[in-house]
Amino acid sequence: MKQLLKVAFLSVLIVAVSAATVSASENLVVHFLDVGQGDSELLQFNGKNVLIDGGSRELGPSVESYLRNHGVSSLDLVIATHPHEDHIGGLIFILNDIPVKQVLDSGQVHTAPSFETYLDLIDKKNIPFDTAQRGQTINLDPNLKIEVLSPPKSQFQDDINENSIVLKVTYKKVSFLFMGDAGLEAENSIMTTGYNLKSDILKVGHHGSSSASGSSFLAKVKPSISIIEVGAGNDYGHPTQKTLSALQNTGSKIYRTDTNGNIVVTTDGLSYSVSAEKLSRSAACVMSLTAALPSIRTSIEYGAAITTTNTIATSSQQSFVGSVKSNKYHYPSCQWGQKIKPSNEIWFTSSEDARAHGYVPCKVCNPP
Ligand SMILES: [Zn+2]
Ligand SMILES: [Zn+2]
Repeated sequence: MKQLLKVAFLSVLIVAVSAATVSASENLVVHFLDVGQGDSELLQFNGKNVLIDGGSRELGPSVESYLRNHGVSSLDLVIATHPHEDHIGGLIFILNDIPVKQVLDSGQVHTAPSFETYLDLIDKKNIPFDTAQRGQTINLDPNLKIEVLSPPKSQFQDDINENSIVLKVTYKKVSFLFMGDAGLEAENSIMTTGYNLKSDILKVGHHGSSSASGSSFLAKVKPSISIIEVGAGNDYGHPTQKTLSALQNTGSKIYRTDTNGNIVVTTDGLSYSVSAEKLSRSAACVMSLTAALPSIRTSIEYGAAITTTNTIATSSQQSFVGSVKSNKYHYPSCQWGQKIKPSNEIWFTSSEDARAHGYVPCKVCNPP
């Protein structure tokens, strides 16, 4: 009896410990806000909040209420990637209404009224202000590595987009690359620096414009997830088919704020999940099909008659995708991996991580 009690006590302890290791504070949560044609991303980690861009001025109130709804009462850092209206306009509301501890700016000037108001507010509120430069690291938390990849010390000539602040954020094995509106010139320059560009999640440069996302750059980044922040029916034709194809050619899964709404990536540093406010048309289609035909899907998935064509080259940095509703993991290019509902996806940085989470390889795409 005594022994039994001891065992019961031990198992309670184990449950308590494992609950602590998966507490929310261990997760990095990155929100890609749907701000129409513009950019805004919120990073939350260990009680700290960072805002990269704030959308355009008319979207400022929506960004502010999104932040408040996600428990943000102050911001440890605001990063303005470059002084274009669709990135800094909304920051006017944020700087006015929410305490900000520090601003990181691209160091470029612009004559837009929003930019002058932005500078006036920083001045009036006495917010410490720093200019970003390649080679800097941002010390937000010892477990989070934030590197400034661009702009370089001597900035690109006369191009506000090219001089956007580009950031790589790494939490253990999972990394994010935030491009702002940087384009091909910045990409080519970054490729000469020796930075490890491989990133799991890419915030695609310049809203999917063909002035960014060059194939050689994407080949180095090899994103599993590409997120395009873009407005529906925008006047610029963003994103272009050329960029969408280039992203698809890397084997990347594409999310867009115009079709998916707000997109949230949550990671414990080993695996990550992506949740989107709205399902895109194709994902919704697959979901209703699989909901109607669950037994057929299962029998096809595990059927021996299926021949597999696995074209993905194995690499030590390969990512794998699974569903929270099953225990299989797949190559991102696998037909079954592609059919997982976005809100059910869970991503692993290696087969070891997938197996450590209790997942087994898909028999169709046969990952390691
Ligand atoms: Zn922009
Ligand atoms: Zn811009």
